[in-house]
Amino acid sequence: MKVTVKAPTVYPIIVPTKMSLHTFNFYLVETAGKLLLIDAGVESDKCWNIFQDVLAAHNYSIEDIDAIILTHHHEDHIGLVNRIRTIKDIPLYAHEKGFNRLQRDPIFLEKRIELYAETFQEMGCGKEAEIEIARMKKARIENESQTIHGEILPLRGGDNLFGFQVIETPGHALDHIMLYHEPSETAFTGDQFIEHSSTNALIDLDENGARTLSLLIYEASLRHLLTIPMSIAYGGHGNIMENPHEIITKHLERIERKSNKVVQLLQEEKTVAALAREMYGGKYETLFSLVMSDLIGHTDRLEQTGEISKTYRDGVFYYRQKQEESH
Ligand SMILES: [Zn+2]
Repeated sequence: MKVTVKAPTVYPIIVPTKMSLHTFNFYLVETAGKLLLIDAGVESDKCWNIFQDVLAAHNYSIEDIDAIILTHHHEDHIGLVNRIRTIKDIPLYAHEKGFNRLQRDPIFLEKRIELYAETFQEMGCGKEAEIEIARMKKARIENESQTIHGEILPLRGGDNLFGFQVIETPGHALDHIMLYHEPSETAFTGDQFIEHSSTNALIDLDENGARTLSLLIYEASLRHLLTIPMSIAYGGHGNIMENPHEIITKHLERIERKSNKVVQLLQEEKTVAALAREMYGGKYETLFSLVMSDLIGHTDRLEQTGEISKTYRDGVFYYRQKQEESH
């Protein structure tokens, strides 16, 4: 006898925002006799009220939720966790690599800021980096209220949780996971890919204290996802996606195009900071961290493909397109 497994029933919680993200999405999910919350939005009354409305519309209350599962540790995905758990101590699951971030381990966060400071210096940044590092130090103190309290249960790739496979998809964040319901090819994809914008592969500190090769890791995750059949992807922002593979392919093509542009601009030797000014103009200052993460990612990638090489002088890296050997 063939046993058919019912697809999870999904009640999206969609919180509009004026930001370029369009919406913050998280999901109430009925599956295998359980009620799950996948991600937890932003910490705001507006988000809370929309969440309450969705619960009420389906005759649920917070008391009915069996577990909260996080796709990654970013603040726009964990916002309501503490508020919910003051009402009911619901089990919270997250990838183990996210723990020091969710619990805001001060030693880890200090080290992370040091890594950024060192990286920006090596990339040839000047006062913009100083401003950014000062901002990060201030934010580390100010964001202490976002610390996740109480127990967190660890997830790893390959785990099975309430009928979902945990698939590691690092890149946007090191602890990023996708929750995959294989029988119905349903995926909860967090910020791994978003229909209306390219998601950022952010540089970070890995568990060995080194800088991550974030774009390479991100690209490998996207390629992996192309091997997994998906009929629907519930993402962290924007539209729910019925053509996930098409969107992933577009993202991969966009990465390739941008890398080609970067190679062209590296016919003469330059630092990533100089490259960033040339490619992004004023955004180099206004979106400093994102722009730097992006171009550091591309120079990592182009070193790997052998299209550029770097030299280190006086504490700064200079990148240049590899010259064709002439005979
Ligand atoms: Zn997000």
